[in-house]
Amino acid sequence: MDFDHLIRAGAEMVRASSRVLVFTGAGLSTESGIADFRSPGGIWSKYDPSEFYFDRFVSDKRAREKYWAMSTEYYGVIRDARPNEAHLAIKTLEDTGKLLAVVTQNIDGLHHKAGNAPDKIIEVHGTVFSVSCLSCGKRHGRDEIQERVKAGEKAPECDGCSGILKTDTISFGQAMPQDKMAMAYQHARSCDLCLALGSSLVVYPAASIPAAAVENGSRLIIVNLEPTPMDDMATLVINDSLSKVLPAMVQLGCSDT
Ligand code: ZN
Repeated sequence: MDFDHLIRAGAEMVRASSRVLVFTGAGLSTESGIADFRSPGGIWSKYDPSEFYFDRFVSDKRAREKYWAMSTEYYGVIRDARPNEAHLAIKTLEDTGKLLAVVTQNIDGLHHKAGNAPDKIIEVHGTVFSVSCLSCGKRHGRDEIQERVKAGEKAPECDGCSGILKTDTISFGQAMPQDKMAMAYQHARSCDLCLALGSSLVVYPAASIPAAAVENGSRLIIVNLEPTPMDDMATLVINDSLSKVLPAMVQLGCSDT
């Protein structure tokens, strides 16, 4: 199918649906200038991921110092990034009343910046915009902690109990947030269309969410630059730019005609 046919086919599915679950990954944010951590030139080509396992972070102060150095390196880019046309198309889906929820693997807060309601956004891998104490749970704003790191605290500690501070992102080897995953699966069981956008669909357990939607009878549209292991499960696969595909598909699928 050529581009127009693909858009029309996707738009028809959007039109026919009333409960859309959107699942997003790093490819959605690359067009906002945030490099995929896993891509060549991404953060994991500069740092060794094995040094950032959660157990090591907890047990080794030097690992924590490295974590904060790495995290500081990319925080500025994420803080200043703006949502792109594809993020805004997801907001349009919410405005039409079709959006059940956005389940995102991204930690960049761009769905919030695009204006989606906070209760529609499920950040299964957490967010870089807050920091929590691993001992007492006290939450700290990221900018406040960032200032302390810049001022020389290499591995900042909780100002309440001197516990270990960590950004509210899910590290390798760290447990997924059970409440968020449960909510995501609940939506996967009740959606009638799942859009998997910019995800290579290889990182589990997050990638099992679109699979659960299909198992429960939902249609699945995958939009990603590269093929994914779940393409065979999808009703429609479009390997093209999200900021080109999604606004066109949503506009056509939500228009009156
Ligand atoms: Zn504390």
